[in-house]
Amino acid sequence: MNIATKIASLRKELSQHNYNYYVLDSPEISDFEFDSKLKELQELEAAHPEYFDTNSPTVRVGGMVTKNFETVVHTYRMYSLDNSYSKEDLEDWEKRIQRILGDVKVEFTCELKYDGASMSLTYEDGLLVRAVTRGDGFQGDEVTNNVKTIRSVPLKLKADFPPKFDIRGEIILPLEGFAKMNQERIEAGEDPYMNPRNTASGSLKLQDSAEVAKRPLECLLYNIVGENLGVSSQFESLVKAKEWGFKVPEVAKLCKNTSEVLEFVDYWDQHRHELPYEIDGVVVKVNSFQHQEELGYTAKAPRWAMAYKFKAEQVSTSLESIAYQVGRTGAITPVANLKPVLLAGTTVKRASLHNADQIEKLDVRINDEVFVEKGGEIIPKIVGIDFTKRSPDASPVDYIQNCPECNTPLIRKEGEAQHYCPNTYGCPPQITGRIQHFISRKAMDIEGLGGETVELLFKEGLIDNYADLYTLTKEDVIPLERMAEKSAENLVKGVEKSKEIPFERVLFALGIRFVGETVAKKLAKEYKSIDALIQASAGELILVDEIGIKIAESVVEFFQNEKNIEIINRLREYGVQLEISAEQLENITEKFKGITFVVSGVFEKVSRNELKKLIEDNSGKVASSISSKTSYVVAGDNMGPSKKEKAEKLNIPIISEDEFLDML
Ligand code: AMP
Ligand code: ZN
Repeated sequence: MNIATKIASLRKELSQHNYNYYVLDSPEISDFEFDSKLKELQELEAAHPEYFDTNSPTVRVGGMVTKNFETVVHTYRMYSLDNSYSKEDLEDWEKRIQRILGDVKVEFTCELKYDGASMSLTYEDGLLVRAVTRGDGFQGDEVTNNVKTIRSVPLKLKADFPPKFDIRGEIILPLEGFAKMNQERIEAGEDPYMNPRNTASGSLKLQDSAEVAKRPLECLLYNIVGENLGVSSQFESLVKAKEWGFKVPEVAKLCKNTSEVLEFVDYWDQHRHELPYEIDGVVVKVNSFQHQEELGYTAKAPRWAMAYKFKAEQVSTSLESIAYQVGRTGAITPVANLKPVLLAGTTVKRASLHNADQIEKLDVRINDEVFVEKGGEIIPKIVGIDFTKRSPDASPVDYIQNCPECNTPLIRKEGEAQHYCPNTYGCPPQITGRIQHFISRKAMDIEGLGGETVELLFKEGLIDNYADLYTLTKEDVIPLERMAEKSAENLVKGVEKSKEIPFERVLFALGIRFVGETVAKKLAKEYKSIDALIQASAGELILVDEIGIKIAESVVEFFQNEKNIEIINRLREYGVQLEISAEQLENITEKFKGITFVVSGVFEKVSRNELKKLIEDNSGKVASSISSKTSYVVAGDNMGPSKKEKAEKLNIPIISEDEFLDML
């Protein structure tokens, strides 16, 4: 098979698997197989830039940076929707329609109203050419690079699509993915995002599409616009869009009359919490395009569609007290203790109050009757107060001034909403929180030790910081409550085994604020040992790729603290990995410092990725295209002819795989 055919067939195959997985929810191959095929395609494309294609499945991983999002005028205006809040509203609307259309039978397509960011996608000859945000409805921002990373947006269409059309949909962040993103932020010591909708729309405006690619966004489609579409109704257009490769939720329903519409509304009002994403209502659309045309538009919305907004599920209950939680980083979160009440199928006893400003803004007081709502967050929130029920002697909340756990006076930094307990090393939940982070799966992954045991060990005075874990003996732990001999053994074994955990994960485990997994990896690779990192100034740190001033300052502050240095020295004594292993280090030199390579073609002794790693490990740079700054082109079999020509023109030496390995 020649290269062009191979590339084309891999692209086709990957698109199909992508579609099976993200649109149909029924993958046919394992993630591992998918990844290896994708890798194969990436390598072929890198070696053969002449077959570059902006819509290849490899663009899903992102990497394109958009500095300024260009304003683009929508070919067809993106209208808003009229809202209704009751069955009577809906019935009135249907009467108005019937009056305009006369004595004909009107059918409706009912869809869910997805709560995200609206998006218009333009396809030409079956290729995605543009993605534009709604903006003011007349014009929006072009975010094509970012949208291409969303796996459920097809880059190439299938079947009998019209030559040119726009399709509208909603970019959403499913609840599970949202919760996972927040979990990771919390682990990195950052504030969680407030809700899926804002996070989805914020994601579209990130400059680096590789960042967008990491977010589990989805695109649900609901409207096709254009000429000669070859479809005659809304319901048919949804069926067609699905055939062309778009993700269209299955629940859309063709309703023959008003009572079927109301049934749909009722059903989803009650069952919306079973969906994997948030909706805020239902959209009812006149089905026939011909009827739609006759009905036309008002100044802001189509007459042929109506949103029915669900009432946010809300209950009222009494606020019994406010508790203050202290997190691993010392951040204080006020939590309302409520009189237990049933909301959206679960009993609610607590609600988040976020911070002191929020309490003041709501003017919430103890014993108030409060309204509680459930949004995308796990903990419900208080949205208002029933002032008619307030007792005359209720007084405003006195926000705590001292830590509820250790009594240290709280501080609040300029521009931050949260209060902090500065007693980092003496405040119990901060101490145990740090140790719990240290032992967690992505950090030191200490088997046989859980969060509750950490608290118990701390209470018994057996540990005060994570270095103390390494001095625990079986005899120390056996006397603990509910600790069998076998569990004690496992605990000690697990701690021992963690000494093999590589430096990058140890660095993450230390719990430096803003140093999550990825940053820890970057720093470990750049500095190679904790000692080198300790010496680094903030000015040096920000020179490292992706390290900003916030992270740099936090790292410096961490190592300025004597206590931390003491703990690190103890970890070293116990044999925890505080530098890149000798084996890893052996392969790292500065041999290629200042030398830039371009790698092209297929190799025999090492894979392309290994070759690139060899260059980078030896401090060389890998560039993707040949320029006057290129020092060498390493050429394998099937090097692209255009690359060869360019290298020759610029007089850049072309070396073989063997010559390269000899250089090493
Ligand atoms: P609103 O923002 O309340 O004016 O509602 C209009 C918005 O609802 C549109 O801009 C769409 O982004 C969004 N929407 C969500 N789901 C649908 C749907 N199934 N059909 C039409 N619009 C929808
Ligand atoms: Zn405290």
